[in-house]
Amino acid sequence: MLHIPKKLVLVALISFLAGILWFVMVRFVMYKSNDVHYHANFAVYIDGQREAFDNFTFYEEVASCGADELNNPKARGHMHDSINHVVHVHDNAVTWGHFFANLGYTLGNDILKTDKGRFVSGEDAKELKFILNDTEVSSIANQTIRSEDVLLIDYGISTGEELKQRYDTITRDAAEYNRRADPSACTGSQAPTFADRFEHALGL
Ligand SMILES: [Zn+2]
Ligand SMILES: [Zn+2]
Repeated sequence: MLHIPKKLVLVALISFLAGILWFVMVRFVMYKSNDVHYHANFAVYIDGQREAFDNFTFYEEVASCGADELNNPKARGHMHDSINHVVHVHDNAVTWGHFFANLGYTLGNDILKTDKGRFVSGEDAKELKFILNDTEVSSIANQTIRSEDVLLIDYGISTGEELKQRYDTITRDAAEYNRRADPSACTGSQAPTFADRFEHALGL
């Protein structure tokens, strides 16, 4: 009969367990939530007045971001907690057009429709202008919102200096929102917790 020394069995067993432990540890450390969640800043000015978005309908309840998140276009890009200059993006390829549609606005290259009216470029010599990250662009609706974008939408008769001033009023805190645990994040969009990591590591 083949005799296997006890010591060898023990060493093999320990190596095996150490291997499993290593594997679990690597999975634990490497785990990243693949939920998308980032932020951008913006403002809309009409005839020199900043849109306040002071109605609760412009904001998503955290509770509304639930299991059916992917089927609800509103869950993809929106505002929270009456903070009217931060866009929360919860999915890939969300455009500025999507975001404004979620607010009930229509955004084209020459037209902006809000809850207050229809603002068309060229009417009464007024112009619709977009400044994205310090650069004037002619079209914004189909642009994917990028993390830490700063967007000004301006309608009216505005000088370059006024546009710049309005652009500068936009609080740039998207980076801060990206870093901190966002209390208004939809479920599952926050950084993974210890329990999340542990479950993932064990393959649960
Ligand atoms: Zn957020
Ligand atoms: Zn959200």
